[in-house]
Amino acid sequence: LSDRLTSTFKNLRTKGRLSEADIDATVREIRRALLDADVAVQVVRAFTSTVRERALSAEVSGALNPAQQVVKIVNEELVAILGGDNRPLTFAKAPPTVILLAGLQGAGKTTLAGKLALHLRGQGHTPLLVAADLQRPNAVTQLKVVGERAGVPVFAPHPGTAGHEGAGVPGDPVAVARDGLATARSRQHDVVIVDTAGRLGVDAELMQQASDIRDAVDPDEILFVIDAMIGQDAVATAQAFADGVGFTGVVLSKLDGDARGGAALSVASVTGRPILFASTGEKLTDFEVFHPDRMASRILDMGDVLTLIEQAEKAFDADQAEAMAAKLVSGDGFTLEDFLVQMQQLRKMGSMKKMLGMLPGMGQMREALDDFDEREVDRIEAIVRSMTPAERRAPKIINGSRRARIARGSGTTATDVNQLLDRFAGAQKMMAQMAKGGGMPGMAGMPG
Ligand code: GDP
Ligand code: MG
Repeated sequence: LSDRLTSTFKNLRTKGRLSEADIDATVREIRRALLDADVAVQVVRAFTSTVRERALSAEVSGALNPAQQVVKIVNEELVAILGGDNRPLTFAKAPPTVILLAGLQGAGKTTLAGKLALHLRGQGHTPLLVAADLQRPNAVTQLKVVGERAGVPVFAPHPGTAGHEGAGVPGDPVAVARDGLATARSRQHDVVIVDTAGRLGVDAELMQQASDIRDAVDPDEILFVIDAMIGQDAVATAQAFADGVGFTGVVLSKLDGDARGGAALSVASVTGRPILFASTGEKLTDFEVFHPDRMASRILDMGDVLTLIEQAEKAFDADQAEAMAAKLVSGDGFTLEDFLVQMQQLRKMGSMKKMLGMLPGMGQMREALDDFDEREVDRIEAIVRSMTPAERRAPKIINGSRRARIARGSGTTATDVNQLLDRFAGAQKMMAQMAKGGGMPGMAGMPG
């Protein structure tokens, strides 16, 4: 115990900084992990320099070794860039809420439309899917299939009309989107999800079409759907959509694959937009609300390390409580106020037996308190609070009339006050003995 205490104090007293060598070694590891996760190179560069700066100015932690401390900073920064907490969908004050999907062909927009519709339906919404992708021959059919699976109606251009792909005239996706929204209004759908066309690569025509649809339906959310496997192209693609159409949020698709999710960090850090959902398979139920903290550990691939860090910090809290107890016993007068603080500490820890067990020589007291009633702490607190500072410092001056006053003030009896004073006297004696060194070998030189 004394070893642990001593090192705890050593750590507590260290007001140093992490060494640059420690930081650089860990940052190198982090850089490799991020590149392995396919985070864009320029994002990795910016990120690691932020982390390095923060680590250089961080106070040395008593709980963690330097590497763990850097990893902790990395994790916090990752979570922050990924949006901190999950950002829920924004709904329009006056329905319908319009959600526009944008992204490259094959990103997973149409699949997402169905997933989102099912998800919203489960929350009691009444979505309408709008097929504004008239680019690919079977795009409308695909959305109809998805809609049927999700149990959600699909608005599509009628065969033979100008809006329809089979009419010989190129369909007008903007008109379809506008008509879809009007239909949603008249049929009282509270959410409209507009599926759009994509190209294999970013191009001007695609952006213009998406912007025109955006202007026609004035969406509450524009969700940029991006394939998590896209790797290093994530930045350029996200930037192109951010500039070309603009988006309010991101959906990461195909997270069921090998991708470690580096694209998430790339997109979030380049565009500053939050990731709302993750798509994790071809089935409509393979869909999750996005959790930045989980993604951070996936990107770092250091789930175990993060767990270790958490545990180390928890253990450190216990060490600090232990150190506080040691401080109390080694102090030169153990006053009623200390006694009260100690009781409150015990209650706060929720496990005073454990704490007493950590203190050598406390066996006696532990036994005495084995059947200690938690409400007892309230009573002790009330009694001590009803004493004057002078009485707390020197309980000897508490005579009969003071005792009666204290009992009245604390809603207890004179007997209760007596019992407390007796108990305190016993504890005080024990503390004094231990402070002399008898009970706590190796405590010499400990700060009081
Ligand atoms: P769109 O062109 O953006 O509309 O993309 P689609 O929704 O048509 O999806 C393209 C392909 O990716 C389809 O074969 C989908 O089944 C598949 N897909 C979509 N989302 C996911 C996903 O989260 N995981 C996997 N494994 N496949 C997906
Ligand atoms: Mg599609």
